[in-house]
Amino acid sequence: MPISEGFARRLLPVLDELVAGYGTPFHIYDAHGITATHRAMTAAFGDEPFRQHFAVKALPTPAVLELLLAEGSGLDCASPVELELAGRLGARGDDVVFTSNNTAPAEYDLALKAGALITFDDRTIFDRADPLPETVAFRVSPHGLAAGSALMGDAAHTKFGVPAGELADAYRAARRRGATRFGIHGMICANELDGNRAARAAVDVIELGARVAAEAGITLDYVNIGGGLGIPYQPGETPLDFQAFANAVLAARRRSFPRGPAPRILMECGRYVTGPHGVLVTRVVNRARKGREIAGVDASMSALMRPGFYGAYHHISLPFAAGRPEGTFDVVGSLCENMDKFAIDRTLPEPREGDILLVHDTGAHGHAMGFTYNGRLRPAELLLTADGGIEEIRRAETFADYLATARWQPEPLPVAASARAPHRKQATHGD
Ligand SMILES: *Cc1c(COP(=O)(O)O)cnc(C)c1O
Repeated sequence: MPISEGFARRLLPVLDELVAGYGTPFHIYDAHGITATHRAMTAAFGDEPFRQHFAVKALPTPAVLELLLAEGSGLDCASPVELELAGRLGARGDDVVFTSNNTAPAEYDLALKAGALITFDDRTIFDRADPLPETVAFRVSPHGLAAGSALMGDAAHTKFGVPAGELADAYRAARRRGATRFGIHGMICANELDGNRAARAAVDVIELGARVAAEAGITLDYVNIGGGLGIPYQPGETPLDFQAFANAVLAARRRSFPRGPAPRILMECGRYVTGPHGVLVTRVVNRARKGREIAGVDASMSALMRPGFYGAYHHISLPFAAGRPEGTFDVVGSLCENMDKFAIDRTLPEPREGDILLVHDTGAHGHAMGFTYNGRLRPAELLLTADGGIEEIRRAETFADYLATARWQPEPLPVAASARAPHRKQATHGD
């Protein structure tokens, strides 16, 4: 949806000059908006024990992660590289939650060394983990509300988590192996904009956690209700009411854990925290009519793949084209792929060559999902700082980056002659 009034007020007055001096394309993020969202989430839980761990994958740029860490946010990592990044930023111990899927033993060892709060995604990974972390948590398979969700998979077909019916047994096994502290993790919605549904999904995990803890005879230190809160991408959609969501979560916590210490609540939102606080700034470089009205811009889906990849809607505006007649346009990039379109049949004031065109809501899963196909390199990332400055927090990629991993002198690898010979023989006789 259109960027917030505050972001617009901070960005638009400097945009013309910025573009003239810096060029396009680039993503720019609004530090004020990001910290305000994080603070509002924390404030909604009041004095109750709560911590939000930003999902690094959504926007893994150090300056933004530092901003969030300084606000007291933790980080949610899902890969060795994300763990390394968190470590480099000074995130330590339970600042980090590690929620990976299909986890290799070496990855587990790294997370253990980092002292992260580790979620076991299945029994196999748990059974071979040695030693166990101080706190053992399992991820529950999508169940209840999430059953049938295309993104997560239903309970019978998902690749995520331990089936709800096998959880108690998993915790008993952990206790037998000497574990004394426990958590539970459930992420059962994705880009969920309906606050009631998101709350029901979270309450489900809390209630399941209470049942399983009683059954297995353990005390839960925390319930991690995951990320997946949605943001309004379409104009006219309403942001979810986070306070109402938090109230429902806290009420369920009180209800489900009436005696003894209730577990603290963790979240690992990405999109909800940074998504609305970024835009991709491009320039119109080509206006064509090919049966369709086409506005070509100087960014491609390599800078933002959601529209091309999932058909996701991103709002588009031309901030300096007010008053022009409106028409219906396809906004396209330059990849040799027909899906490289930011919008199809979009009503816009008529774009002209040289116009600045903004693609909204690129603060999460935007630059991070970028790639370099066709040599369309990833653009820079800028930050509109709290004091009104503008910083380059990631430069645009260059030709040297594009080739950084290529070997100009191919490196022969040590392959034993005995291993090569039968292969050659097979090739002569075979297909
Ligand atoms: C992707 C992911 C998140 C963050 O999702 P958002 O939609 O950005 O909130 C959190 N936790 C896990 C396990 C994830 O896979």
